[in-house]
Amino acid sequence: MCYYENFKYSCNDWKWGNFRQHCQAEYRQGETCGMKMVYQTLPLAEKCVMCEKIERKQRRLEKHKADYQRWAVEPQKYRYSMEKAYEEMKALAQEIQKLMGDKQARYNNVGNPRRG
Ligand SMILES: [Zn+2]
Repeated sequence: MCYYENFKYSCNDWKWGNFRQHCQAEYRQGETCGMKMVYQTLPLAEKCVMCEKIERKQRRLEKHKADYQRWAVEPQKYRYSMEKAYEEMKALAQEIQKLMGDKQARYNNVGNPRRG
């Protein structure tokens, strides 16, 4: 097991950083054994790209929702806008769900970082 830096985003997702230290199993210079262990965890202020994407879509969804509720006071007048907002909301909800699934799959694949 070789040791790598581990970056932790504010959303609790993480990524591997630079290689830091060889383990006992790997003695060849410039080679790593392929097993990654955490050398140290460095907190990052920002959220990961996936979460950023999801949040952007969630904000758009909220905006459509607010519009829809505003228009619902006069449904005759805003029927077309409301229908459009409804379609957008449906599409966004699906995209958000897919992104969350992708994120889950991604972090499940990598597994949790092991402590060295
Ligand atoms: Zn994240």
